Amino acid sequence: MRLHVLGSSGGYPVPGNPNSGFLLEHDGTRLWLDAGTGTFAALQGLMDFTRVDALVLSHVHADHCADVLPLYVALRYGVAGGLRLPLYGPPGIRETLAPFFQEKGWEELGNAFDFKRIDAGDRIEVGGVRMTFLRTQHPAHTLAMRAETGAGVLTYSADTGPEVDLAGFARGSDLLLCEATYQEGKVGAPVHLSASQAGETARNAGVRELALTHVWPTFDPEVSLREAREAAGDLPVRWAKPGEVFEIGRAERNGR
Ligand SMILES: [Zn+2]
Ligand SMILES: [Zn+2]
Repeated sequence: MRLHVLGSSGGYPVPGNPNSGFLLEHDGTRLWLDAGTGTFAALQGLMDFTRVDALVLSHVHADHCADVLPLYVALRYGVAGGLRLPLYGPPGIRETLAPFFQEKGWEELGNAFDFKRIDAGDRIEVGGVRMTFLRTQHPAHTLAMRAETGAGVLTYSADTGPEVDLAGFARGSDLLLCEATYQEGKVGAPVHLSASQAGETARNAGVRELALTHVWPTFDPEVSLREAREAAGDLPVRWAKPGEVFEIGRAERNGR
């Protein structure tokens, strides 16, 4: 299993780093996780977007779903030739995106997307990837995701505050892709995690590796890495830098 970072900037995109978006590949299956601003262009730099098997959205905040709108245009009027992409999303996705199409509403968006509602506790399977979901602590209805294959386990926190059992949900994962919006002395409302909370969560979950994402764009990721490493113990911790590739699981671990 392999994870490509399309973008990881928290809140808003910056030059060279789109908002949240990841491509998960396993044995011919390709899952696009979150479609923040700029991630559609980044994805096209890696592959033919018509070969994505499904898009999975964590929540309706624009930094995680705004590129559904240009993707709609590409699917409906571009080279895709009428392809309908399976789109998994929590409650609120359809209702938030539909008004962009005025009176045609979701009916128009439905020409490009086969919408499948997901929620906490649901299980889905796309190709060889099984996914489960956890409701997080965040203003919008937000789902953390756990993706499992015979080769490994990835858990992605999406956006979340600290008052949720993310460590339990991520237990034993090969990679925890965890949001780390805040830094020491720069902590806002409890709707996001700090880098040290991400490190602590990874240690409590017993994961093999931690990747920091959603670092606030004006913060230095090196500082986030230092704070996360202090809290994570012996775990390897990396920043989910745009363009970075994570090999997930034992079978593929030797390659790096
Ligand atoms: Zn966000
Ligand atoms: Zn959010």
